[in-house]
Amino acid sequence: MAVTDPKPRVSLEQITALAKRRGFIFASSEIYGGIGGFFDYGPLGAILKRNVKDAWWREMVELRDDVVAFDSSIIMHPSTWVASGHVGQFVDKLVDCTNCKHRFRLDHLASREQCPDCGMRGTLTEPRNFNLMMQTSVGPLEDSAARTYLRPETAQGIFVNFKNIYQSARKRPPFGVAQIGKSFRNEITPGNLTFRVREFEQAELEFFVPDDGNDVAWYERWVEARKRWYSQYGVTPERLRFYELKPAERPHYAKAGIDVEYLFPWGWGELESIAHRGTYDLDAHMALSGKDLTFFDEASKTKYTPLLIESSAGMDRTTLTMLIDAYADEVVRDAESGKETRRTVLRFHPKIAPVQVGVFPLARNKPELVAFARRLESSLRPHLRSQYDEGNVGQLYRRQDEIGTPFCVMVDYQSLGDDTVTVRDRDTMRQDRVNVEGLQSYLAARV
Ligand code: ATP
Repeated sequence: MAVTDPKPRVSLEQITALAKRRGFIFASSEIYGGIGGFFDYGPLGAILKRNVKDAWWREMVELRDDVVAFDSSIIMHPSTWVASGHVGQFVDKLVDCTNCKHRFRLDHLASREQCPDCGMRGTLTEPRNFNLMMQTSVGPLEDSAARTYLRPETAQGIFVNFKNIYQSARKRPPFGVAQIGKSFRNEITPGNLTFRVREFEQAELEFFVPDDGNDVAWYERWVEARKRWYSQYGVTPERLRFYELKPAERPHYAKAGIDVEYLFPWGWGELESIAHRGTYDLDAHMALSGKDLTFFDEASKTKYTPLLIESSAGMDRTTLTMLIDAYADEVVRDAESGKETRRTVLRFHPKIAPVQVGVFPLARNKPELVAFARRLESSLRPHLRSQYDEGNVGQLYRRQDEIGTPFCVMVDYQSLGDDTVTVRDRDTMRQDRVNVEGLQSYLAARV
């Protein structure tokens, strides 16, 4: 469907309400009043997020012979974060309002004259440095020697293991290492549902290439690969942009960088960054640890530090994007009666839809229909994400539309006689009569 208006069709309030009502996203520890910057994924949200991560993993690891898997610990030796620069530089400048006590990031303030929340003038403090890393202590003593951090990104686990990985996996550059895992940042101003949170999941690819003149081509290849990934899962092209960072906007060691951004209801926001980082990360760990993380090329008996192309995507932001981008509120006309009704529908790509097929009996008080529908649903279950439901027909369709189920199967009286069922397509609302015997392959071909 062509989108003429690139503005999202849904407000933050609408998506937050739907996410809660249908079990996608809840505020963490809500019964105690919640805790800022933390969220839980409900029964459908947990599946949606898992599907998004699986889609990334399938593309970035399973379908490639030049990327290996990795899973590092959340807490690492504290020196890791000294070498990476996070202890010294991972800071935001923050400003407090002495009147309303609200806290702001300096780079989010339009002016330092007046508090944007309470409107008082001259109440904002001088900026202070605030390190975004969350601290914890390891072991029974809470002294400074035991102080460690929850990782603010997953990448460092890959860098410090570079040698272990290439030696054990028998890989030589160009090759990559991929990881999905939790990261933590003590964000000053969390907000916009799961867009900016303090605990989130990142999917990172660290791709090591030789310094043979093909590094920029590799970087461009990864940018294209990531473009294909978003388009494959149907993200509206007009709401997605690949913003090329200008030299002043990227770190001094980076040769190139792109931010992948989505047009959220509150404006453009970053989903992923793709960067050519040179040898910066491996060099930093070699310098501090004194250990050799170069690649030794057996063939030429030479060693070198590979260049790095990184893709770092946020899985919570991507999941939120899928939810927002799928949303439509529309008027639909019944083909037979001509009656018009409004519906809210999530047009998830069938591969990531939490439920792929809903199965219902036409009447819940007819045991033969119920038994038929239940049997049918359990026969589909090993092959598709299916769900049995029963009740008022209109409500059943409305509920499945609202959770983004691409197909609904209705068992009616005719089914009992000829073993056929009606399959309704979420998007076209067309209904096909399909033989039960061929149902699984009919659906498999469409999801
Ligand atoms: P921002 O500028 O929005 O704070 P960033 O540039 O610091 O993000 P990176 O360090 O490049 O982010 O992290 C890579 C990805 O991790 C981001 O593109 C985003 O998808 C995700 N991410 C980073 N911080 C958060 C957060 N607080 N909440 C949710 N996702 C995050």
